[in-house]
Amino acid sequence: MNVVALSGGVGGAKFADGLAQSVGPEALTIIVNTADDFQLYGLRISPDLDTVMYTLAGLANVDTGWGVSGDTFENFGMLAKYGVQPWFRVGDRDVATHLLRTEMMRLGANLTEVTQVLSQRLNIDTRILPMTNDIVRTMVDTAEFGVLPFQEYFVKHKWQPTVKRILFDGIEKANPTFETLRALETADTIILCPSNPYLSVEPVLGLSGVKDALFNAAAPIIAVTPIIGGEAVKGPAAKMMREMGVEPTPLSVAQHYAEFINGFVLDERDAEYADAIRALGLGVLVTNTWMRDRNDRAALTCEVINFADHLRPEKLGGCRLPQR
Ligand code: GDP
Repeated sequence: MNVVALSGGVGGAKFADGLAQSVGPEALTIIVNTADDFQLYGLRISPDLDTVMYTLAGLANVDTGWGVSGDTFENFGMLAKYGVQPWFRVGDRDVATHLLRTEMMRLGANLTEVTQVLSQRLNIDTRILPMTNDIVRTMVDTAEFGVLPFQEYFVKHKWQPTVKRILFDGIEKANPTFETLRALETADTIILCPSNPYLSVEPVLGLSGVKDALFNAAAPIIAVTPIIGGEAVKGPAAKMMREMGVEPTPLSVAQHYAEFINGFVLDERDAEYADAIRALGLGVLVTNTWMRDRNDRAALTCEVINFADHLRPEKLGGCRLPQR
């Protein structure tokens, strides 16, 4: 089996962990958004890659959704002694990742190579691929502050400003990596994780050649809702959809992806939308999509893999969870 998933941070990472449990890490490639990446004191920070990496390594801080579990912030206290109070906090363990990434890139490695090395050192068998080695930067056009770099909107302003539109600086000139396109071409199942469609998945889809690869893919393509009962499980997805004039429902998400997906997974609390999504010409799976623990992650991903198997002419045998 060869499963490829498109992912942002939190929602994507939880789903990736479920897939690693249900199909096995060697059968899995995660293509990760890098448009949230930025520099802090010269360090290259890749929040979504790190969340996926830490989650798959069992190191993630599940309470915050970012950083390393049990991390300390001594460096923050020391910075304060210098009279500096950065609004972006980096933990003492977390900073090791950024130091190594920055140094390897300074010595000429690209982000794909660096991610492979960091993943290997954390004993992760899943292949984690940044969507591009080029620079793409998410910018959020807000009613209150005008255009903000993504981390200022998200962290400094705690995603409270009203979103008018989202821009991806550099996307026209950026290319998906060879590995990313090859993964999509050779996948037997492609999944859009329950990530923020506008912030996390859109930059991946916006890279030249990615949508064509999806249109041409032999694999069934399934999207999983990040919206449950009119709200996001975490983060600004529902709020920003409302602000941009889109109803925060699984139907809106399905419509957003409809042109290139074959199936959509919505939450059982939203079963009322199933018929409308079917009417878009999509296969539909209604189930519990809220991943509260690792068992939920495995159960959901296994169901999604079996659903994908139903959408292809030749069955691959699907997924059966190991007995615990
Ligand atoms: P970010 O880059 O850290 O914002 O991460 P993502 O874009 O990957 O994830 C954010 C999205 O994940 C939000 O829209 C959440 O609603 C969604 N999400 C988080 N946890 C869950 C979950 O357990 N189930 C579902 N269906 N969606 C989730």
